[in-house]
Amino acid sequence: MLLEGNRIRDQIKAECLPRVTKFVDIHGRPPGLAVVLVGQNPASEVYVRNKTKTAGELGIYNETITPPATSTTDELLALVHELNAREDIDGILIQLPLPGHVDSQRILLAVDPAKDVDGFHPYNAGLLATGREGLKPCTPAGIIEMLRRYMIPMSGANAVVIGRSDIVGKPMALLLLSENATVTITHSRTKDLPGICRTADILVAAIGRPAMVTADYIKPGAVVIDVGINRVDGKLVGDVHAGDVAKLASAWSPVPGGVGPLTIAMLMQNTIQAAEAAAAARAASSC
Ligand code: NDP
Repeated sequence: MLLEGNRIRDQIKAECLPRVTKFVDIHGRPPGLAVVLVGQNPASEVYVRNKTKTAGELGIYNETITPPATSTTDELLALVHELNAREDIDGILIQLPLPGHVDSQRILLAVDPAKDVDGFHPYNAGLLATGREGLKPCTPAGIIEMLRRYMIPMSGANAVVIGRSDIVGKPMALLLLSENATVTITHSRTKDLPGICRTADILVAAIGRPAMVTADYIKPGAVVIDVGINRVDGKLVGDVHAGDVAKLASAWSPVPGGVGPLTIAMLMQNTIQAAEAAAAARAASSC
């Protein structure tokens, strides 16, 4: 079975619409998303355009701020503080990568965790690690939505995640754990990677190496999620060998059209969640 990200994305977007309408009815303004795009990176510009287009479709107020590539860390920190203080902005997204001379860690740490719609702030990572509600990284949260909506059983399943980045691998493992899967995290130093992967009922590949996951990594009947986005000869390919996975897996997400579409949908969901939470906190503090 092909796990179609576009279908799930459309469902999530359809669920976002009435939440935006309700928010506008109650608060007289839509949820607001600020995207900070520093300098001119053509790939980043495409990503940002896709994000703001989706926000616009859902009625989410969005603003793209484009400081020059020469901006200093202090100038960007001042911008983040300004956005943190704005009541009409519920979500702040710093489009990565930032120019090399900028201290990216300081910028990301400066974002108010309540507005951290990428879910990258250590505060939100801590909430996730301790099983508390918070803003979750969009790509792994989207994968959980996909597994749920395709009714793939996670509780008790053996899940293997290849990759341990803060953006995908680690939060993916924590989210699967919170779904009661038995989780193994693997990486570039893992011994007998194919053997460990063959124990997986659910295998998630977040590596960044084209078609690395071949038949000897896949247990027949496994569910395989391919997070990888690699360009080979101008073509988009995943981390999983497309022919092998189709022969062996019971369900798998293709590249393109699998995980990719979910990330932006979850960003929209996070923005609405942040807006609702901020409004609830303001209401509670005014009581
Ligand atoms: P990183 O480069 O940050 O992490 C890659 C991980 O893969 C590392 O933990 C690394 O191990 C591991 N790895 C690398 N080579 C091997 C190997 N030979 N065997 C086992 N493990 C290996 O990448 P990201 O996590 O940010 O992204 C992973 C992929 O997902 C990329 O292709 C990226 O483009 C894609 N992506 C897709 C998104 C989407 O929306 N669909 C969103 C985000 C990412 P170690 O830690 O030991 O170095």
